[in-house]
Amino acid sequence: MSITPLMPVYPRCDVRPVRGEGCYLIGERGERYLDFASGIAVNLLGHGHPRLVQAIADQAATLMHTSNLYGMPLGEKFAQRLVDTTFADTVFFTNSGAEAVECAIKTARRYHYANDEAHRHKIISFDNAFHGRTLGTISATSQPKMRDGFEPLLPGFQVVPFNDLDAATAAVDDSTAGFLLEPVQGEGGVTPATQEFLKGLRQLCDEKGLLLILDEVQCGYARTGTFFAHEQYGVTPDIMAVAKGIGAGFPLGACLATEEAAKGMVFGTHGSTYGGNPLAMAVGLAVLEEVLADGFLDHVKAMGARLRSSLEQLIPNHDGMFQDVRGMGLMLGIRMNEAYDARGFVAHLRDHHGLLAVSAGQNVVRILPPLVIEESHIAEAMEKISAGARSFAEAKAA
Ligand SMILES: *Cc1c(COP(=O)(O)O)cnc(C)c1O
Repeated sequence: MSITPLMPVYPRCDVRPVRGEGCYLIGERGERYLDFASGIAVNLLGHGHPRLVQAIADQAATLMHTSNLYGMPLGEKFAQRLVDTTFADTVFFTNSGAEAVECAIKTARRYHYANDEAHRHKIISFDNAFHGRTLGTISATSQPKMRDGFEPLLPGFQVVPFNDLDAATAAVDDSTAGFLLEPVQGEGGVTPATQEFLKGLRQLCDEKGLLLILDEVQCGYARTGTFFAHEQYGVTPDIMAVAKGIGAGFPLGACLATEEAAKGMVFGTHGSTYGGNPLAMAVGLAVLEEVLADGFLDHVKAMGARLRSSLEQLIPNHDGMFQDVRGMGLMLGIRMNEAYDARGFVAHLRDHHGLLAVSAGQNVVRILPPLVIEESHIAEAMEKISAGARSFAEAKAA
């Protein structure tokens, strides 16, 4: 037998972390990595954050799992805090991002069903989007590597170009339920929606009775410097999927909705065995306390501005290797010139300079540090990236 015990769907690299300390990961042989990937925008408090560790230990000893058949005091408390701090009136907790998007899609279809308009089921989504790996969420992307061989996918999706309001408008017909998009595309290449695009979609939704569904699984939860990215656009969704940062490493997601948008989600329409269990809720509350503490978002904004300007200074110093810096807050990307491969550069930084980043679509190196980084981490990362860019260019020339 040659198949590996872990199903070989990931081309895993040689980094084999066994411990984490703040913004660093430590490998099996004791090697240290500066972690500017954060488990792909997940570990927003870094590794081993004392408050998070304590919350998990305390709750695990008290009560880990019950059932959604019973009342959930911690869940009520956490949901209330989310309702108080966002556009939403109600929350469904999940264990992952894809499940949160699934719940968002179901909520949207069910809304139109509750309005006696069940024919309005089509979700319009966008090129280069990533919404997860379930059959429903891959149906909302156009990327062959995620879709091929899994057909037939779910009907009722149409994918159109991102940041193209005319294309989105033209795709709306009698069967449309709403739009699904990431305000800042993550996997697709750290591409923010334009102001006109997101505002335009909101306006279209208002005019035509459609639902605006935002996938803030990656760009949400303080990553861009506001609690949610849409706040920076002055646009409010009807439904929103959240995950990644919300659990800071614990598997947790959420689907948030307005009362109106959630009107179809009545008893028996949806559920989850683990979703929102006491351990997850204790984690969620602890993370939220940190994120909403005075100064946290200001810190993200300040570090984001500093990291961005440092990255921008790389561009003129590396002979056309880097094209531009994109993104918002601490969700940043450097687009590399076609002559250089972002995936190769990420591997080079990792293997030769001890820096972890992530590649993304459109030849982009994604930089997603923990949100608790300090200036010293930025300085260290910039030294590694500058040195890495020089040695990467030399290796290519040789
Ligand atoms: C990661 C991600 C998902 C999927 O989350 P999982 O927890 O892997 O299911 C969905 N949408 C976006 C924007 C993501 O970045």
